[in-house]
Formats: sequence, C-alpha cells, structure tokens
Amino acid sequence: MVYLLSFNTSKLPTEKAEVLVCGSGIGGLTTALVLKELGINPVILTRGIGNTYYSQGGIACALDPRDSAYLHMLDTQRAGRGLCKEDTLRILVDEGIQRLADLKRWGVEFDEETTIEGGHSFPRVFKVKDYTGRAIYQALWERAKALGIRVLMGELQEILGEDKVEGVIYYDNGLKFIRTGALVLATGGAASIFLKTSNPTKVRGDALGIALRKGINLINPEFVQFHPTVVKDTNILISEAVRGEGATIVDQKGERFVDELQPRDTVARAIYKKLKEGQEVFIDLRKLEEKGIRLEERFPTIYSLLRERGYDPKREPIPITPAAHYFIGGVEVDAYGRTTFTGLYAVGECACTGVHGANRLASNSLLEGLVFGYRAAYRIYHDINFLKPSENNFSHHREGKAMPSYTFEDLRRLMWEYCSLERKEEDLKRALKRLKEWLENWRDWEPTIENRQLFDISLVALATISRALWRKESRGVHHRSDYPFEREEFRKDSLYCLEGL
Ligand SMILES: Cc1cc2nc3c(=O)[nH]c(=O)nc-3n(C[C@H](O)[C@H](O)[C@H](O)COP(=O)(O)OP(=O)(O)OC[C@H]3O[C@@H](n4cnc5c(N)ncnc54)[C@H](O)[C@@H]3O)c2cc1C
Repeated sequence: MVYLLSFNTSKLPTEKAEVLVCGSGIGGLTTALVLKELGINPVILTRGIGNTYYSQGGIACALDPRDSAYLHMLDTQRAGRGLCKEDTLRILVDEGIQRLADLKRWGVEFDEETTIEGGHSFPRVFKVKDYTGRAIYQALWERAKALGIRVLMGELQEILGEDKVEGVIYYDNGLKFIRTGALVLATGGAASIFLKTSNPTKVRGDALGIALRKGINLINPEFVQFHPTVVKDTNILISEAVRGEGATIVDQKGERFVDELQPRDTVARAIYKKLKEGQEVFIDLRKLEEKGIRLEERFPTIYSLLRERGYDPKREPIPITPAAHYFIGGVEVDAYGRTTFTGLYAVGECACTGVHGANRLASNSLLEGLVFGYRAAYRIYHDINFLKPSENNFSHHREGKAMPSYTFEDLRRLMWEYCSLERKEEDLKRALKRLKEWLENWRDWEPTIENRQLFDISLVALATISRALWRKESRGVHHRSDYPFEREEFRKDSLYCLEGL
C-alpha cells in the first residue's frame, strides 16, 4: 500500500458516512438513490459533472415484443469478440428491462421512438432527443436532492485502511477526512489519458490509480474504445444515432469508404487509416435533411455545438477524427460491484463487469451503470452490518521536494502517439520505457494534489501500455499491426496489478 500525500487524520476536519459514493454519474447516482430507498444514508463525493451528462445517443434495452434480451445479448457478444462474460451480460440485458422502468419512475421522459445504433440488430436505443445523458443526470440529481442525499464537492485522494475500507481523504479547500466502512467508486473511465478524447475534464481516471495503489486489480485496461466521429480539434462528439438516421462518412472526394453502422472500432480504424494517409474525413449530415429529419429538432445539442464552432451541417460535411471515448477495462468486480478489498465496491465505467468484452456496443454503458449500480446498492444493504466505520486514525508523512519531469499533456501525447488505434511492439516498448523513466524518482516528488493526480493517472497509463504489450493479437478495440488477427490463446482477460512500488 502506497500513500502519496502527507496527512494526519486526527488533525483534519472529519465526518462520518454510512456509505460513501464517489462520483455523480449514472453509476453513483443510481447506487445512492437505491441505498436511500433501502433506508441507508449515503453521502456522495464528487468532482462535478462526468460523462453521463454528455451522453447523447441513449440507453439500450430490448423492450419491444419483436426484440428480445437474447438478441440484445447476441449483438453485444458479437461486438465483444469472445470476451463478454456471459453471466454478467445476461444480467445486463435481462435486468436492464426492469431498471428502465426505474428510470421512468425517477422522472426520465424518453421519446416515444427508439433508434438504432452501430452493431445493434434492432432499434432498441431509448433516447431523449440527443441529450439522453443530461436528461437522465438531471432526473437522478433532482431525485437525490428531493430525498435529501448529502453531496460533498471535492476530489478523492486516498483510500484508508489496511485490509478493509476505514475512510477516505478528499480535497476541498484543504484535505478532509471521512470515516466510512463502505466506499463505492463510481468515478468513470480513463479515456482522457489520450491526447484526443471525447471525455470532459472532470473524468480523468485518477481514481483507478488510487485503487491500484490499494492493491486492487485492473482487468483489461488495454481495451480503450475510440469513437469514430469527434469533430476535428474539439471534444464534440457526433453520436452514433446520427449515422443510425442516415448520415454518411466520406473522404475528401465525397466518397463513402466504410459501412457507417459497423461497430465503432471498425469505423474508427477506417477513418484513422485515411487520416494517416494525409486525407481529411468528414461526416455528412445533409442526407438527414433530405429525409425530412430536422437537425435542430432531432439533434439540437449537436446542431447548436456545431453552429457555435462555425459549421453549418445543413450545407457542408463536418471534418472529423477518432478520439478515445470509453475505457472498457476497470476495477475487478463481481456481479454485485464487490472488489477484492473489503468494503470497496465499484460501479459504472470505472468497474469491469465483463459485459463489453473486447468492444463495447453503443448505448450499453449507461445501462451498465444503471443495472450494476442498483445491484451494488442491494449488496451493500446486506453487507452494511459488517462494514461499520472504525475509530482509527491514520497518518503518513512524505518529505519530497522534486517536481515531475513531465506534464499530463506529455503523458496524453505519449499515449496517443504510441498506444492508440494502431499499436505495435516497438512503439509500446518505447512508451513503456519513457513512462518508467518519468516515474523513476516519484518517491522524491513533492506530495501535492497535482502530483498525486499525475501519478495516479500515470499508473493507469502504465496498466494500459503494459497489457497492450502483453496482448499479442488484435481483438475488438485493441489493434496490433504486428499481430493483426485474433489468437485463441489470448481469448482471456488480462489483469494488471501494481508491483514493485
Ligand atoms: C460524449 C459522450 C457521449 C456518450 N454517449 C453515450 C450514450 O449515448 N450511451 C451510452 O450508453 N454511453 C455513452 N457514453 C458513455 C457513458 O457516458 C459513460 O460510460 C457513463 O456515463 C459512465 O457513467 P459513470 O457513472 O460510470 O461515470 P461518469 O458519468 O463519467 O461520472 C464520473 C463521476 O466521478 C467523479 N470523479 C471522478 N474522479 C473523481 C475523484 N478523484 N474524486 C471525486 N470525484 C471523481 C466525476 O466528477 C463524475 O461525477 C458517452 C460518453 C461520452 C463522453
């Protein structure tokens, strides 16, 4: 166990939480709401709005009688390339149907029409125009307020306790201490470790590094999904639903070169190849208007974001690039969000339930946060009597005065150049060597909040590079140009744990 900061909890402002939920996306809010409904008092600790709020497309669920949970499962498995965990996937598609009713009960008003997205064989994506995530976030947030759930704004720094959770240190105008016996990580993914990303700045992946320092394993950190259609030089995403409605992807001659409804990795790599050849790639939304779809009504968020940037999607194709979007791997959990560390749970994008396998099907991640957030809450309801906060205090002292020799920007550039859509041994080894050199003197780093964050994000990058190097095959979103095919001996999860710190 490694602490990065200097602290003495007996001298810090202190409070108690029966359960502490860290993160206020769909995973964290669902867990907190269900706990509250079960008579437990959760406290939410959050750095602010995460990916959930920015989700555009929707949430997949096989409600239509012509569709079925089974078909939803088959589509997910097809994308997941042999790595979807069958038991958790069944839970996702079956229980998702019930959980969608909870979302409605909590105030989300979905459009009447569902839509289809890449890799789905049926239009089963429930949406609220093109701001589904915002609608879900607002409904859950309002409900949390109405139920009187306490929310603390701040940043998780350290998880305390030798062999079970005993509390956390967080930062909010100074370090503070929360005593708790149950902590739910709902801190989102780590796609922002890449230079080009669709993720907002509050979602940085650092909590995965905090978990690694606690001795928790990460599963499949090499599987990072790149979204094919992010507007060039921005993090504005043009959702899959736009292609579902008929938008095409064209090269600079205006010619289509890829089936737009293929899974994301296929589309993203086809675009990446064109860009590497020095060509520009565009998404053409003009067809939608020709079909009678009014962009400002069907996709108001995308339309207004594009207009703000000076693009007119009714008149011109929009230049795009792939960008890191979704972190498929995450903290090792069981089907109830339990990690291997007593009192620590993880839900949503920061957890790896195994439902996505080697590639996530569009609109399955909001569903995952909802379904497994709910299950984690029920598990905690059963476990809570064994997870009482202790009266122990904790202290740690670090002397360091050095500053890291690299920045977050340097790290993101390294990841983009050597470990993104096309990977190969030589590049990955170079990235690993560089990162290890950067980290060499970490023990001498000054124990600041910024250095703690950089260190934790670097640990996640280390996990991603190291497992990408280990996986000598191409599968799902992980593409190795030196091993371009799937190899049966790698049809298994990877596992990363921190050694030698
Ligand atoms: C632009 C975009 C569009 C998307 N569209 C879709 C879609 O249509 N359908 C779909 O299914 N999925 C979509 N996704 C993916 C989906 O949004 C996420 O996988 C999902 O919302 C993750 O939910 P979450 O609760 O795990 O985390 P998030 O919603 O990302 O929330 C993470 C929370 O953790 C907090 N946090 C993080 N670190 C710390 C820390 N150290 N201390 C305190 N708080 C911390 C953040 O402040 C935030 O509150 C999209 C993602 C993006 C970026």
